[in-house]
Amino acid sequence: MTAFARHLAGLIRADGPLRLDRFMALANAHYYATRDPLGAAGDFTTAPEISQLFGEMIGLCLIDHWERAGSPTRIHLVELGPGRGTLMADILRAAKLRPAFIDAAQLTLVETSPALRARQVETLKGHTPSWADNFDAIPLDAPLYLVANEFFDALPIRQFVRTNGAWHERFVALDDAGNFTWGLSSTVIPGEAAGGVRDPGPRRLDTAPSHVGPGSPLRSGRDNDGRNEEAIFELNEPTREIGAQIGTALNTHTGLALIIDYGHAATAFGDTLQAVKAHRFTNPLEAPGEADLTAHVDFQALAESSSATAHGPVTQGAFLTALGTEARAQALIRARPDQSAAIAAALTRLIDAGGMGTLFKAMALTGPGGPVPAGFAA
Ligand code: SAH
Repeated sequence: MTAFARHLAGLIRADGPLRLDRFMALANAHYYATRDPLGAAGDFTTAPEISQLFGEMIGLCLIDHWERAGSPTRIHLVELGPGRGTLMADILRAAKLRPAFIDAAQLTLVETSPALRARQVETLKGHTPSWADNFDAIPLDAPLYLVANEFFDALPIRQFVRTNGAWHERFVALDDAGNFTWGLSSTVIPGEAAGGVRDPGPRRLDTAPSHVGPGSPLRSGRDNDGRNEEAIFELNEPTREIGAQIGTALNTHTGLALIIDYGHAATAFGDTLQAVKAHRFTNPLEAPGEADLTAHVDFQALAESSSATAHGPVTQGAFLTALGTEARAQALIRARPDQSAAIAAALTRLIDAGGMGTLFKAMALTGPGGPVPAGFAA
């Protein structure tokens, strides 16, 4: 066990099993604080790290919306979880076509990891971002232009498991040998309490299928220790909170939030918790704090929590295609013929179903009456 895993085990010995969201929050905070996890030498690769095409297209979408909204002379440009800062650097490079956008933009990066903040300083040399620990800490007083790529998937989930017809909450406990193991609360959770802590909507849990079968789109290929044998409902409370805060900002100050992540368009049942280390799935309990823990984003819950106008989600493939990514790739190839194979491969990975094109979705949120963002028109 690592020192951090021993620390978690000590918490369980002292206070009892950890609720899954607490376990995930502690593990991910340690994970992100202690490394740069991105890229071939790290644990996972994201769209902006695959190609500049991704960030350039996001930049064009933001700028197009800003222009159609009348080119406001002061805006907040915000990124949640900027990783190495690559996406923001590509957005700002695309924005060189419209210097007034850069002049208008007050840049804030929401990042908790000191290691990644240091990377962002390097990548964004020549710009003057501010950093915030959370979205709520940004003093917003102008239209909001926000991007978040693979941010919400890292936020901690709660899981409710239906066994013998009753819902119980998942905890992380210790077995007799002192290893981490899954546990369930003995208390029965009423469906509304689990499914609707912040959303009094339909009593989703009461209509849960009794099985998340092997054909379920929510099953991922990892070894899940039999955790899927009964219905599972996932609740991401921080996502709903941040969604509500973004919605309030958009409804008050106007603007556009672009959220790209892997997940499902409609609220559904299934276990989507996964751990990734060195580009492979691992057991989430094996080495907490050493692997990236994520869960699929429930875009419906995010949209509903925002009470802003939602566009999409559409697949990342459809979104990038509608924005003209293929034409941009051709232009890059003409400029760098020696790079043509690499550029074409990156394009395929971003938009094809076999790559990130279908699993990843893009959703836009706007304030009332704002223009429909490019890439989302019917
Ligand atoms: N958007 C980047 C990085 C994705 S990795 C890209 O596409 O490459 C997730 C990012 O979110 C990291 O920067 C991580 O440090 C940050 N992060 C994770 N949990 C966070 C939290 N609770 N608050 C703020 N940032 C968080």
